[in-house]
Amino acid sequence: MDIQVISLFPEMFKALDSSIPGRAQKQGLIQLSYLNPRDFTPDKHKTVDDKPYGGGPGMVMKFQPLQAAIHAAKQRYQGPVCYLSAQGKPFDQAAAQTLSQRKSLILIAGRYEGVDQRLIDQEVDEEWSVGDFILSGGELAAMCLIDAIVRLLEGALGDSESALQDSFSQSLLEYPQYTRPAEIDNLAVPAILLEGDHAAISRWRLKQALGRTWQRRPDLLKKHILSAQEQVLLAEFIREHSE
Ligand code: SAM
Repeated sequence: MDIQVISLFPEMFKALDSSIPGRAQKQGLIQLSYLNPRDFTPDKHKTVDDKPYGGGPGMVMKFQPLQAAIHAAKQRYQGPVCYLSAQGKPFDQAAAQTLSQRKSLILIAGRYEGVDQRLIDQEVDEEWSVGDFILSGGELAAMCLIDAIVRLLEGALGDSESALQDSFSQSLLEYPQYTRPAEIDNLAVPAILLEGDHAAISRWRLKQALGRTWQRRPDLLKKHILSAQEQVLLAEFIREHSE
């Protein structure tokens, strides 16, 4: 997969050279490259921003350098062009799944008060938000997208099963995790995890996943169609936790 990022701060993306995205780059599963709008300005001051029409605080990213950067990116791959924006569609695991199927993406990280609306209207195909809060720039949001997408590419994770079990992949939160030692600070691991009965462990984990989602994210549970077994397990969990 080829991802081109348009950003005034490409050095921030060094974080993606570590861990799973770093390994995915070395394996050739993903190619990341960067275009800086400053390199596409016609003036000697390399101006990328200007005051907003109508007044008000801050600066706005100019149309021309961004459009030139997008057109340069399209010479390599056609897109789609995604603008990271607090006003975009909420980015979630389903969106990560959809984007991970694409051959290429062009991501725009905004700065200042954002981008001239005409650039969005003319050049942007999709707008994605990483949450209802305001970041100083789109770089961290773009990194969230890239990291979430990379995890879904075949061969990126040591054990591809783990992406299937992650929270949200089945529209449920994941069950709680434990590791050695079996007891610490008088706190024991749930006995069932030590007994080696894989069917019982799967049942327990599904029950915990359902219970956690019910406790913490009832909105997710509303979207999940419960199987007969899941209905029984959730009812058990609720009974045990109301006692
Ligand atoms: N004035 C803008 C508004 O109210 O929507 C916020 C501008 S913000 C300071 C600068 C840039 O950060 C934006 O252009 C966008 O690229 C990025 N950004 C901020 N919050 C974001 C979020 N929640 N998701 C995605 N990108 C975000």
